[in-house]
Amino acid sequence: MSGAAVHAWIGLGANLGDARAALRAAVQRMDALPGTRVLQVSSLYRSAPVDAGGPDYLNAVACLQTSLEAPQLLRALQQIELDGGRQRPYLNAPRTLDLDVLLYGDERHDTPALTVPHPRMAERAFVLLPLSELAPEKTTAAQLAAVSHQRIERVAHACDWLQDKR
Ligand code: AMP
Repeated sequence: MSGAAVHAWIGLGANLGDARAALRAAVQRMDALPGTRVLQVSSLYRSAPVDAGGPDYLNAVACLQTSLEAPQLLRALQQIELDGGRQRPYLNAPRTLDLDVLLYGDERHDTPALTVPHPRMAERAFVLLPLSELAPEKTTAAQLAAVSHQRIERVAHACDWLQDKR
């Protein structure tokens, strides 16, 4: 553990297997990381794949409070992905679990291994809509308008999907 606790926003997505169960397990695993608590989880959304094939995705965003530093947090999320059965056979392959660091406090990172704020978050309705639920100040009306053509629907309130009320 290191550093003072910061708020980090994580994008969750899955489009293979029982995607809802995979996202729910990921929330529990993130809450169990050292020095980390899940403060808030968005509604669950269903979205069309962007730049990828395969079935529709389920997506959500979680807000963490964590004392892990950003690179440590990313490594921990990648381990959760692997434990969730994630394989990377090719770029943008369908996935059992995808976890992205969207924002990490006010920090900026600019390496291939970790780019924060996430470079494509403003282009994706499946990030902006759930993020705007939790932190409206982190998105703008112009950003939301720019992705309004993307197919996405809200399928469950947080309290329902986290308790597996389908
Ligand atoms: P993906 O296939 O979308 O999960 O992309 C994973 C790759 O993106 C890994 O090599 C990560 O190191 C890299 N990456 C860069 N910035 C981020 C970020 N903010 N969140 C998650 N992965 C990132």
